Amino acid sequence: MNFIKDNLSTINASLPENVTLVAVSKTKPISDIKEAYDAGQRVFGENKIQEMVSKYEVLPKDIKWHMIGHLQRNKVKYMAHFVDLIHGVDSFKTLKEIDKQAKKHNRIIHCLLQARIAKEETKFGLPFDEIKNILNSSEFQELTNVSVVGLMGMASFTDNLDIVADEFSSLKELFDELNMQHSSLSILSMGMSGDYKIAIEKGSTMIRVGSSIFGARNYVI
Ligand SMILES: *Cc1c(COP(=O)(O)O)cnc(C)c1O
Repeated sequence: MNFIKDNLSTINASLPENVTLVAVSKTKPISDIKEAYDAGQRVFGENKIQEMVSKYEVLPKDIKWHMIGHLQRNKVKYMAHFVDLIHGVDSFKTLKEIDKQAKKHNRIIHCLLQARIAKEETKFGLPFDEIKNILNSSEFQELTNVSVVGLMGMASFTDNLDIVADEFSSLKELFDELNMQHSSLSILSMGMSGDYKIAIEKGSTMIRVGSSIFGARNYVI
């Protein structure tokens, strides 16, 4: 009955101190989130803006809501007043829209740029060069209400853990390179249920775990 609490304790017990656990609650009911909340979890991740908004409205206000999914620019406005961190920023246009919406609420919204690390064609994310171009551009430096605090990446969906490890390493190298230049990025969001242990070995500071906490999702989205 208390499997969510048990799963959280197991995962938390294995995490290094500098790694933040985002509990990915997409498709899961309010009751499941409450159970995790009662066990002490405060950071939750959702991949659909509407779903996150409706959960935000009924749940305790000390929850930190992370948007981890692909962003539709026209929906950014619905979460701009409360979202704590946006992981999946994959274009400069989206960054500008977040900046515009954040201004309306007098907030600075923290974002991660999503890097394309998977070899597969299907994954979203920016090529490394584009990430560098964005961070170096004067247009970016003029944005006052977004703060890029790190990078996010998703590895290929494969059983070959060497490929996954290589992809995570490449993102960690980019992260270190940017920080050696001039950026002050603190968050490296990589690792999900199936690969978070490898991600942590490769330098992740934030893992996004769903099914290992809440159980398998009933449908794929
Ligand atoms: C669903 C999702 C996760 C969590 O996946 P699990 O395999 O259930 O841990 C992590 N990151 C993103 C971007 C997701 O969409």
